[in-house]
Amino acid sequence: MHMKTSPAYYVAEIFESIQGEGNYAGVYSLFIRFQHCNLACSWCDSKYTWYKNDTLIPQTADELKDIIASSAATHIIFTGGEPTLYALDKLVIPGKKYHVETNGTVIPTEPLHIELPDGTYIERVAMKESIIKRFNWVVSPKLSNAINSQNTEYLHYWSARNWGIFKFIIQQSADIDEIEHVINRYSIDKNRVYLAVEGCTLQSQLRPKLVDELITKGFHYSPRLHVLLWGAKRKK
Ligand code: SF4
Repeated sequence: MHMKTSPAYYVAEIFESIQGEGNYAGVYSLFIRFQHCNLACSWCDSKYTWYKNDTLIPQTADELKDIIASSAATHIIFTGGEPTLYALDKLVIPGKKYHVETNGTVIPTEPLHIELPDGTYIERVAMKESIIKRFNWVVSPKLSNAINSQNTEYLHYWSARNWGIFKFIIQQSADIDEIEHVINRYSIDKNRVYLAVEGCTLQSQLRPKLVDELITKGFHYSPRLHVLLWGAKRKK
């Protein structure tokens, strides 16, 4: 076991692109993709962020803030891996809009001490709510199509906070039924829910019948523009 303590930030890659998904799809953004995840989803499209990698050099908050300041992008997207393993509130500078793509299972306003599936130990202090509530949070709860069992109590936390949206990845119509069940159980406003279709190829995204079905059930649809344009290519 090796200890990694905030304020060290382990970053897998940084790049500029358009946001592919969710309520800001199409928006020119700077992406900071953090290393490490507390889950291990079967269809994860960024497994390289949680395969063991001891070659990464940790970065400081000041280094990352310099990168953010020098980018022409106004929109900064923290993604991963799981970005909430790190103190994101310490990366804020004026004039930028922040977004977080999270699996939702880590409560940002609580201190974190966690041993990850690969044996890495991560520790960080609680993030300041007054700062992070201004972020656009994109919470992507994982369904039974990704992991077999999960503690979904964290959905109470996110459903009670109007800080962004929920994005679910679906493979089949049974997933839409499961999402209906989850959002009813946790009183999640359907207006904050976007459904996207699983897959990393152009062909995987062309599911008009599935999209017809989610329209019939009154859901928003999220495109996956990066997949349509570039497939599984990294840094896109
Ligand atoms: S939570 Fe996201 S980054 Fe982590 S394993 Fe699942 S899909 Fe991959």
